[in-house]
Amino acid sequence: MDTEGRPVRCAVIGAGMAGILAAIQLAGAGITDVTLFEKSDGVGGTWRENTYPGLACDVPSHLYAYSFALTPEWSHRYAPGPEIRAYLEDVARRHGVLDRIRFGDAVTECIFADGRWHLGTEAGHRDEADVVLAATGVLHHPRAPDIAGLDSFGGSLFHSARWDHDVPLDGARVGIVGTGSTAVQIVSSIVGRVRRLSLFQRTAQWIMPQENPAYTDVERDALRDDPERLAATHQELSDLFDLFANAVVDPDSPEIAWVEKACLENLEKNVHDPELREKLRPDYRAACKRLVISPDFYSAIQNPRADLVTEAIDRVVPDGVRTVDGTVHPLDVLVLATGFQVDSFMRPMRIVGSDGADLARAWDPRPTAYLSVSVPDFPNFFMLNGPNGPIGNFSLIEVAELQCRYIIQLIDRIRRGECRTLCATRVALAHFERERELAARNTVWATGCRSWYLDDRGIPAGWPWSFVRFRDAMRAPDPAAFVCR
Ligand SMILES: Cc1cc2nc3c(=O)[nH]c(=O)nc-3n(C[C@H](O)[C@H](O)[C@H](O)COP(=O)(O)OP(=O)(O)OC[C@H]3O[C@@H](n4cnc5c(N)ncnc54)[C@H](O)[C@@H]3O)c2cc1C
Repeated sequence: MDTEGRPVRCAVIGAGMAGILAAIQLAGAGITDVTLFEKSDGVGGTWRENTYPGLACDVPSHLYAYSFALTPEWSHRYAPGPEIRAYLEDVARRHGVLDRIRFGDAVTECIFADGRWHLGTEAGHRDEADVVLAATGVLHHPRAPDIAGLDSFGGSLFHSARWDHDVPLDGARVGIVGTGSTAVQIVSSIVGRVRRLSLFQRTAQWIMPQENPAYTDVERDALRDDPERLAATHQELSDLFDLFANAVVDPDSPEIAWVEKACLENLEKNVHDPELREKLRPDYRAACKRLVISPDFYSAIQNPRADLVTEAIDRVVPDGVRTVDGTVHPLDVLVLATGFQVDSFMRPMRIVGSDGADLARAWDPRPTAYLSVSVPDFPNFFMLNGPNGPIGNFSLIEVAELQCRYIIQLIDRIRRGECRTLCATRVALAHFERERELAARNTVWATGCRSWYLDDRGIPAGWPWSFVRFRDAMRAPDPAAFVCR
């Protein structure tokens, strides 16, 4: 039961990092009538779905952690994926979130009627809630590349987010399509095990060299014994990444120049064969695409077993991949490290707001949301890591924490009886989008590269201002930006 004000029942969709966070922060605010719906059989979202070899965080672990559940136990500066999954499971367990989750129950529809949301699930369950929090993830729906002949492949074929661990890699000829963080992590991890590794590169990536040392027992002990030091470590990293996040919005900042120099030096110093070096040299600015962090990719791709294929793929054939020059690259395993459909969000869920407003129509041709959390005509429906939120190389946990606190302030207005329903006004969204698009055109993400940050018009679909401005925007909702009924 709620401990304060009008009772509010909340449905949280998704039990990844953001859904777990929502349940904990709602409980902390005294909102305990909360049910989480999770379509899979476990918590962790991204970190449950992705099990590919080499998976690791690409922001320091002490930053990629809930501010209320910092841990001294990280094994490495950039923790491996299974450790992050275990961390999320542990936090969910310790905070009593697991008991509130309906596992194996995908929400298929949310219909707003009579002042409440009516939810329907794939398993046929029906539920009602005053407030819905969609925490369904951004990097969730795998994106298959548009390559002819995929079905004809005679070996094992899978997306990196659906890794098939029954397929042996030792001694196999493995092909990887894609050159983002995932592909880079896989290459570094498996090149020593396979017979031949072919990396099919459409776009070269800037690689930011970052060592990933293990923490020593002495270092962990120091943090175990001193919670203030642990908190300070988190804060220092947060401040550092603020600087970086602020810098990427300004392509002419000294920080971006520093990143570019570090990436360029990495390429020049660590790739020895001039021909290979030129193939690996991007023709756009560093940080235009999500920056790839790796201590060892260049050494992995120079392994005699590795082959960087830069000819475009013509088609997949039963024996492997044929490139446009007619060469067939024979393969036993083909991995699609081709990312995600980043504009899907909760979809294909059917979401109908007030007066029959359909989200599919509201989001045609592209998703928008006021400050990335609320959509006009969809009252009491809020999103974590929704459209056009902060992107870039920093912790999405921090982003979700700020958004969640903001949303709870809106829910508090309902609990105080100021309104029964709240959603952003159309004017607020239109104004926000106008400003956002203008600013987005001047970020480093718009300096001439092809990336998943760009929307269908080629405009970066993210928060284009500093992280400090994001923090300010999330401090308290502007009452004038919301319809309160
Ligand atoms: C390989 C990889 C590496 C990454 N590395 C980093 C990193 O280093 N730093 C960083 O900040 N971010 C990173 N990210 C981004 C990462 O996705 C976020 O940090 C974070 O995990 C997102 O959490 P989330 O809860 O918003 O979404 P998700 O983790 O995607 O969780 C969404 C959950 O919702 C469930 N769900 C979806 N639809 C429904 C439905 N209809 N009904 C019921 N349940 C549903 C899903 O099953 C899933 O469990 C990475 C992403 C990937 C893919």
